[in-house]
Amino acid sequence: MKKKAKTKAKAEAEAEAEAETRTGSAFSRWSVLAGRIVSAGIRPEEASCPRCGSRTVQCVVAGDTVTRVGYARCWCATCLHGIHVSRVRAAEGCPLHSWADPDAVPDTPLFHEVHP
Ligand SMILES: [Zn+2]
Repeated sequence: MKKKAKTKAKAEAEAEAEAETRTGSAFSRWSVLAGRIVSAGIRPEEASCPRCGSRTVQCVVAGDTVTRVGYARCWCATCLHGIHVSRVRAAEGCPLHSWADPDAVPDTPLFHEVHP
């Protein structure tokens, strides 16, 4: 890989991640999308569903508010497909619900969970 300016490399990495949500298996597309939301702090409404393309992706991230490690459930409100990812670290920009208080964690709808 050639050496690139930091901002350019970052933009390219983001473009690559965006492209990956349109290729690969359903699981890898959802994994990439969840990673963008949880680790990169992209807002779910800025993302398109990797299955149907709707901009109705929603995500609930719950975990330890100190370490910001927990799980994420991301789904599409239109086609009701999505993913559950464990042991993720939420970026500062990603809303995190404390799992110490189960009542504070929003309910998620019943959706078809994709698996590897
Ligand atoms: Zn969808």
